[in-house]
Amino acid sequence: MEIINPGTEDYHIHSLNFSDGLNTIDEIVKYAGEIGLTKIAITDHCQAYLDKRDFHRKTYYNIINRWENIHNEVEVVFGIEADVLNAKGDVSMDIQGKSSEFILLSSHPSPPYEEDPKSITEGYLNAIERYRDRITFLAHPCSVYYQDYIDIKPIIELCNKYDIPMEFNCVNLINNKTNMKNLELVLSECHYIYVNSDAHTLNELKNARNIGMTFLKEHGYLK
Ligand SMILES: [Zn+2]
Ligand SMILES: [Zn+2]
Repeated sequence: MEIINPGTEDYHIHSLNFSDGLNTIDEIVKYAGEIGLTKIAITDHCQAYLDKRDFHRKTYYNIINRWENIHNEVEVVFGIEADVLNAKGDVSMDIQGKSSEFILLSSHPSPPYEEDPKSITEGYLNAIERYRDRITFLAHPCSVYYQDYIDIKPIIELCNKYDIPMEFNCVNLINNKTNMKNLELVLSECHYIYVNSDAHTLNELKNARNIGMTFLKEHGYLK
């Protein structure tokens, strides 16, 4: 297992501007610089998630083309947390019709997953086959949302086959939203791992990854 971002990079953060974070993009970037992060990804939820949860549009997503970091040297990527929608592996991977080259493949309880949760493994496998060239990594594959239905092994195998990393999600660990058996499988069998906060608040941006890295050290996953 290789950790892709062991240092000062966090690739899963939510903003207030485009989904359910508590802070604006500028607040996040400014604070990321203060705590020594060098590269971050703002990865707001996809349109299917926003629609089903009744998030109102605050501004136009196109405005990110005009955004520049005026605060510090932190490199900022705009990604999208995409959702698997059904067993066919349809995926919502846009915000206001605009997509990204940095896609986190995720799933959340119905909605946005539209079908019987028993089909979630099939949904993941089909989504990975169909969109493997576009998926940057699988976000929180070990969350408790689908722990009664998900068969993580074939998903790990398929990710390894296509060199798609999986995420160790630190906020889910802290909030007891992690299936520890699946996490153990992912950490021991998956070739590439991202360690990300999934921060929705500045305190999560500050602390979550550190707690996650300590967990990995204590459990022998870090040399
Ligand atoms: Zn969220
Ligand atoms: Zn997230």
